[in-house]
Amino acid sequence: MNTRLSQLLADLEQDTSADVANAFAGLVVDYFAATRTGDGRVSTASTPSEIAARFDEPLPQSSRPVAEVIARLERDVLADCNRLMHPRSMGHQVSAPLPAAVWTEALTGALNQSGAVWEMSPVGTIIETQVVRWMCELAGYGPGAGGTFTSGGTEATFAGLLAARQAALPDAWTQGVGANPPVVICGEHAHYGVARAVGELGIGTGNTVVVPSREHRMDVDALERTIGELVRNRRAIMAVVATAGSTATGSFDDLDAIGRVCEAQGLWLHVDGAHGASALLSSRHRGRVAGIARARSIAWDPHKLMLMPLTASVVLVREERDLEAAFSQHAPYLFHAREGERAWDQGVRSFTCSRRIDALKVWVAIQRYGALALGSLYDHLCATAQALFDMLETRPDFRVLHAPESNILCFRYVGTRHRPDAELDALNLELRTRYNLGGDGWITSTVLGGRRVLRVTMMNPRTTSADLARVVDGLSRLGADLEPR
Ligand SMILES: *Cc1c(COP(=O)(O)O)cnc(C)c1O
Repeated sequence: MNTRLSQLLADLEQDTSADVANAFAGLVVDYFAATRTGDGRVSTASTPSEIAARFDEPLPQSSRPVAEVIARLERDVLADCNRLMHPRSMGHQVSAPLPAAVWTEALTGALNQSGAVWEMSPVGTIIETQVVRWMCELAGYGPGAGGTFTSGGTEATFAGLLAARQAALPDAWTQGVGANPPVVICGEHAHYGVARAVGELGIGTGNTVVVPSREHRMDVDALERTIGELVRNRRAIMAVVATAGSTATGSFDDLDAIGRVCEAQGLWLHVDGAHGASALLSSRHRGRVAGIARARSIAWDPHKLMLMPLTASVVLVREERDLEAAFSQHAPYLFHAREGERAWDQGVRSFTCSRRIDALKVWVAIQRYGALALGSLYDHLCATAQALFDMLETRPDFRVLHAPESNILCFRYVGTRHRPDAELDALNLELRTRYNLGGDGWITSTVLGGRRVLRVTMMNPRTTSADLARVVDGLSRLGADLEPR
């Protein structure tokens, strides 16, 4: 054996030791501690090229002591990462993850069970099946329901719509969708993943029909008119996509009303609940998703409002066989089901082949904290958005654009005297950039009703009302500085 290989084999064994484990875990513990009090920056002020310069080196050819690599992680990686555990991190829909789920990630990696086939993940497959079953029950689905973990809401919606396509066009798998495919109806605030799925499925994005919103929700009267028109024009409809927790404002479509319309017309309803389906855990907010069981398929991201680390997402279907029909290609060397028996292999219902058991961290978090506490956490994050709304309503220099329905709030800096909207658009855009660069807090912005607005998403249980006040004051001071005199 050459010396390089024998050195490597020795290193591999050394790296299984508690000392090395503690050194890696120590980075995480230090990060959790350093972000607890809200000291330090939320995000980096470095530019992409500054960060790139730090990592620009020839391919390392030889081994290094593990301590050196860990020191470099601390110095070069941790220093400029977005610190989502910081209480004034209020940007995108990415969580300050639950610690028990974070620690489980190392175990998931160590065990490296592959999710498609039961024989490769004899416990992982069962845990995934069980977590999916709990989620189906929360959604109000019956015993015939099922689902699978996915890489995110984007894949979950893709899989739900693939199942819808299979139901509408059973020959599409082998023959393609033909020259006159059915249309997909969605709300104007639908996530871009819906249009993307329609494109990927060969339906053509030109066959998406967009229903306007009223108060950031799908206008159900307009939906009925749209369906009526399509039916009169003899256009087939593949699916209606409703949103539970929209990306811009966290608003919920009326799933019960939309579900009734779809049932009356025999239409497949897919609910994009990537953000908001976690309301099912909450006793206070569950009403927002009333009627969700009317959906034939649901996308739901535990990596959003169940605060899982990336990634953990599921697609649920009311009839498990709909998902199996969607992926109706069989790989006999892999999947084993006896005639008439349900296949445990999740690969028969999934887009992916090799896949981590992301269900394990969800299962651990539910074991450790309990579903009721996760529901309270959902309520807490919504209450934090509501507290910010209440705070902003009292201020003359801000205007809130909607009452929060979940943990997302859009608002606009309007300054100290009247200014034209276009000027305020530019001012708000600049305000967001400059505020984030300052490092004291981190927010996003979006365009709502054609106007540039500021947007926050509460994804961190550590955020307090003192943090909210500090963000508002910081934005107000900076806004005043940026206002043209
Ligand atoms: C986040 C989100 C998505 C996309 O989900 P990913 O997990 O990022 O792929 C889709 N729809 C809605 C409503 C979302 O909030």
